[in-house]
Amino acid sequence: MPIIELLYLISIFLFIIGLKRLSHPDTAKKGNLMAASAMALAIVITLFYPMETTNNNYLWIVAGMLTGGSIGYIAAKRVKMTAMPEMVSLFNGLGGACSMLIAVVEFFNIEAGSSMLDGQIITILFALLVGSVSFSGSIIAWGKLNGSLRDTIVLPKPQIINLVMLLAVLTMGILILLQDGPNHSMFLILLSLCLVYGVTFVTPIGGGDMPVVISLLNSFTGIAAAIAGLIYGNNVMIVGGILVGASGTILTVLMCKAMNRSLFNVVIGGFSGSGISSGSDREQIVKEATLGDLAIQLKYSGKVMIVPGYGLAVAQAQHTCHELELSLEAEGVDVKYAIHPVAGRMPGHMNVLLAEADVPYPKLLELDDANQQLASTDVVLVIGANDVVNPSAKEDPGSPIYGMPILEVEQAGTVIVLKRSMNPGYAGIENPLFFGERTKMLFGDAKDSLHKLINEINNA
Ligand code: NDP
Repeated sequence: MPIIELLYLISIFLFIIGLKRLSHPDTAKKGNLMAASAMALAIVITLFYPMETTNNNYLWIVAGMLTGGSIGYIAAKRVKMTAMPEMVSLFNGLGGACSMLIAVVEFFNIEAGSSMLDGQIITILFALLVGSVSFSGSIIAWGKLNGSLRDTIVLPKPQIINLVMLLAVLTMGILILLQDGPNHSMFLILLSLCLVYGVTFVTPIGGGDMPVVISLLNSFTGIAAAIAGLIYGNNVMIVGGILVGASGTILTVLMCKAMNRSLFNVVIGGFSGSGISSGSDREQIVKEATLGDLAIQLKYSGKVMIVPGYGLAVAQAQHTCHELELSLEAEGVDVKYAIHPVAGRMPGHMNVLLAEADVPYPKLLELDDANQQLASTDVVLVIGANDVVNPSAKEDPGSPIYGMPILEVEQAGTVIVLKRSMNPGYAGIENPLFFGERTKMLFGDAKDSLHKLINEINNA
């Protein structure tokens, strides 16, 4: 029906403009709303799509939407900012599961005796492969991110297992296409193989490579949705899926660049380092900062750089951090933020946190710009960041994060690290920065320490 196609076109247009607006923090909220309205419009239009209504379809659709919508609403309201990546992974997985279920339903709808060498059936098998791999892979990523699955679960020879699994999946797919009609048992074996392949694909990847995997699975889900759209010849599903697939792919490439890893290297699951850190035999001494001295030093600094990390998100210290920035600026100090692309636990995590606290976007420096300015910085405040400022990434070929570009904070006059203990960050490795000549530690919860520091500055 032309009117349905026209409304779909409007929805596609809104998706594209919404996506464009998501690329800048000032317009991101509106962009998100626009894309959500486009989705709502697409769903409503689809309800008017000509279909057989003999099986109480509308009842099923409304019941499904109410159940899914309520679970989604409650989950989104309750989720803590630090648990967002897990939720994104889970939602990603559910997108993949939708395509997988569509493939199952459509395969079981094929009439007995139909020719299997048909474009539509190949599309169904492809939707099954991509959908189920992104479903089971995302569930593994979800487990890794929330800590229930440890990186210590290792598969023996993961590259070989993955190659064998891929060959098994492709062979089974070809065998299904060579049958005289739909063979349901073979199809279910293919489904199981694809699900296992998703697990073996993601299990060997871990540590600092998780940001790349998350965006890779995100792009898989988009591709799965686009293929499911091809099954139904539904343009909005095809374009929506392509947009998610393409943006996920672009993000994956950017993340690989940020980690200085090739996608192939990430996917085969090998960390870049040899795994044998050179460590240090010297007894290492940590110097502690006192609030009073630090307040005076900050007050009389010309330039201060704040490096936010995952701990800032845990402490929910973004607003207090902004308060500190304003207090220092009132004293004439130039304050900037250095944002590492994989700081936190999801792409753009720090940008989102700081935008929430109304930190002006031009104050946020990307990695290269920040590194250029660090040598002329008087004091760097590392707030709950660890891996992204770990010099082992440059200096220790045995380190698991060797090769990852870092914020070179040790170039600054003084480095103050705010964290609760000497515990390591996500990669689980020691950080030589903490023992550096010019480094001092301020132990405690980041929000608490920042509050005390602001009081000291205001009273100094
Ligand atoms: P890290 O995880 O390396 O370190 C965070 C530090 O914050 C810890 O050392 C912890 O130390 C400290 N911390 C935790 N809670 C608090 C608190 N309440 N107050 C003060 N400090 C606190 O964080 P980074 O941001 O430096 O690095 C991110 C890491 O996560 C990288 O390895 C990255 O690869 C990985 N990653 C990133 C993703 C992304 O997309 N951005 C996704 C998945 C993983 P202590 O316990 O002593 O306080």
